[in-house]
Amino acid sequence: MLQFRSTNGQSPAVNLRAALLAGQAPDRGLYFPESFPKLAPDEIAEFGQLPYREVAFRVLRKFTEGIIPDDALAAMCRKAYDFGVPVEVIHHRVYLMRLDQGPTASFKDFAAQMMAQMFGRFLQEDGRQVTILTATSGDTGAAVAHAFHKVPGVRVIVLFPIGEVSESQRKLMTTLKDNVRTVAVDGKFDDCQAMVKRAFADPALAHIALSSANSINIGRLLPQSVYYFYAASRVAKPGEPVVFSVPSGNFGNMMGAIVAREMGLPVKKIVASVNDNDAFPRYLASGAYQKVVPSRNSVSNAMNVGHPSNLARLVAVYGGQMDETGRIHRQPDLAAMRRDIFSSSISDERTRASLRDFWSQYQILLEPHGVVAWQGFLDWQAAEPGSDAPVVIVETANPAKFPEEVEKVVGWAPDVPAAMTAGLQQGEDYDRMGADYEKFRAYLIERHVSKATG
Ligand SMILES: *Cc1c(COP(=O)(O)O)cnc(C)c1O
Repeated sequence: MLQFRSTNGQSPAVNLRAALLAGQAPDRGLYFPESFPKLAPDEIAEFGQLPYREVAFRVLRKFTEGIIPDDALAAMCRKAYDFGVPVEVIHHRVYLMRLDQGPTASFKDFAAQMMAQMFGRFLQEDGRQVTILTATSGDTGAAVAHAFHKVPGVRVIVLFPIGEVSESQRKLMTTLKDNVRTVAVDGKFDDCQAMVKRAFADPALAHIALSSANSINIGRLLPQSVYYFYAASRVAKPGEPVVFSVPSGNFGNMMGAIVAREMGLPVKKIVASVNDNDAFPRYLASGAYQKVVPSRNSVSNAMNVGHPSNLARLVAVYGGQMDETGRIHRQPDLAAMRRDIFSSSISDERTRASLRDFWSQYQILLEPHGVVAWQGFLDWQAAEPGSDAPVVIVETANPAKFPEEVEKVVGWAPDVPAAMTAGLQQGEDYDRMGADYEKFRAYLIERHVSKATG
């Protein structure tokens, strides 16, 4: 059975089930496959004829062997992926993959939906209950709340900063109810994250089984490898290497491309562009890693990450070791990393200009995250000209999630997709709290007890 080891190398290897339910390894490292299962070229060549859910089944099966029976996994893939994955032509051999058709219109639905299926299954087998704690600046909380809504054995508590979340992002979390509780915190995203981190380490909460659905969880990463196989099967000849351009914050999405490559997908280049939070491109250029503290605000707010936690996994793939604080204990093969990955930092000014140019040139509307991928691709083309490989630009959210920004640039507000409007009509229900850990602890204990007795 496939084993997962910690990037810190100080805790024992575990199987997928244990890695998923734990979230983080006991030594505070991130779980990662000990070795990558492979897909043969002729297996990959068949993907061109298959719908998304079937590609998902054939890729994920390599990780779930011995843990989830094939027929159960196939059913889980059908349930998780009942929405489209459009791959559209921009111009000759350059494509746009839209990962914005899920229930919360962001690419985070792809991972959250499958993770919820897996959690539900494992907990039912064990007869256990867990409480999933998530701090969010918007998209993660919405995707996790929707995916885990009504999943037996799971309670979800989402903390969000009251002033930093757009109205539609908030409503996507606060209108669900049932097993989903939302807490509006009078503070910043950093406060929410600090409260969640303290709860995980708090002995006074040891009697409550807490788990995490943040991108440190390996369950978020594996499903994000599937759409790279899918996109390649739509745009490339069998065996032909593809360029992927991914807008990056915590680098979970781009790690999906790395996982696909390690499993056998031919990849020519990964372009992983960031906003003003430029720790990664600086590291790639200099070999010296320095977090951005505090993280910088930008128009692509889901990528405001000063220290991307998934870099620990990226460094591990290239033979190095980085701990959770960002300290490098062993340098990876930087030359190989530079050969495989290109990264540039796109300022807000360039993001807005690029959004406008893209619209006027192609009449295709992007939003502030996807356009970072587009501009990063243009930067790569300028730096390394002459490639004729097919290119896939990854759009990570629907423009309707960022109406103010988009309207400022193109002059009109985008249509809201039907999947999103349904929930927005419901009444909201959420708790409110100061950024005060003692209060949050009391809240968790009280809610746990009332659940257990009532
Ligand atoms: C979370 C998010 C990102 C960044 O993805 P990472 O996996 O953290 O790099 C990009 N775009 C949108 C819309 C997001 O919600």
